[in-house]
Amino acid sequence: PPSTTSVGRFAPSPTGPLHFGSLLTAVGSYCLARQAGGLWLLRIEDLDIPRVVPGAADTILHTLDALALHWDGEILYQSRRSARYAEALALLENKGLIYGCACSRKEILASAPHPGEEGPIYPGLCRAGLPPGRRPRAWRLRVPARSVTLFDGVRGRQSQHLAEEVGDFVVRRADGLFAYQLAVVVDDADSGVTQVVRGQDLLTSTPRQIYLQECLGFPHPEYIHLPLALATDGKKICKRHGAVAVQPERGGPLIASALRFLGQPVPAELEQAPAAEVLRWGVAYFDLRLVPKESRPLSDKVPTWP
Ligand code: GLU
Repeated sequence: PPSTTSVGRFAPSPTGPLHFGSLLTAVGSYCLARQAGGLWLLRIEDLDIPRVVPGAADTILHTLDALALHWDGEILYQSRRSARYAEALALLENKGLIYGCACSRKEILASAPHPGEEGPIYPGLCRAGLPPGRRPRAWRLRVPARSVTLFDGVRGRQSQHLAEEVGDFVVRRADGLFAYQLAVVVDDADSGVTQVVRGQDLLTSTPRQIYLQECLGFPHPEYIHLPLALATDGKKICKRHGAVAVQPERGGPLIASALRFLGQPVPAELEQAPAAEVLRWGVAYFDLRLVPKESRPLSDKVPTWP
């Protein structure tokens, strides 16, 4: 796509049908992309094969279609792009930015001095070379001892010290699969994505992705992390909480609920309108300044919530 066009995307993982949590991201990214007169791409993140549920991708596509969330161009399936990820990994290797790591989870836990927010911070055991007699299991990217800063469209300035808060992170997993962090950066760059709209659960991954963009010579997209709908245990809602699949026949009210959760004052008279009509309102009036900064529990009124 030409560089003047704004390009947004929705990137669901096919681990189940579309539920209210993923609908928030779909609706938010759609409205912002269309409001900018840009493209809205669809990527199926089926890279993590052990977590993929057969048939879930098709169910998601069907639901998006029925909700009038129409995407542009070809769907990108991560499972078909291993050769491209391997190329990116080779580039990182040629630059001396990655190293093989022999550590098991147990070994890391035993010697990790800092717990870290998303698991232990890798203590760098294999950074200077593999211990004698050991084989590499995973590949890690060396992170610099500095902060990466970004401006998030909802939360404002965000900063993370890669070495202190994350540590050298995995770009190719011990099971041979390419890591989410690498795939997302390669895919967004190859698709010409200029605007990433997704859930706040990924905000702590963004500095890693920005650093990977620097390493690979890719441009940085704009980032907008939306608040999450939480379950009563304070966690992001998911299937485990009984989040039921979005019912396409309830499309209009569901999209209105999603927009309201994102702080947008959908007029009451649109409540029973068809999905396409509610979306048209969202495209015309979505205002990022109204989006709440904090994730919060879902109110009972949302029609997907049992
Ligand atoms: N596949 C991820 C998810 O479903 C989204 C990744 C992204 O938007 O960068 O949560």
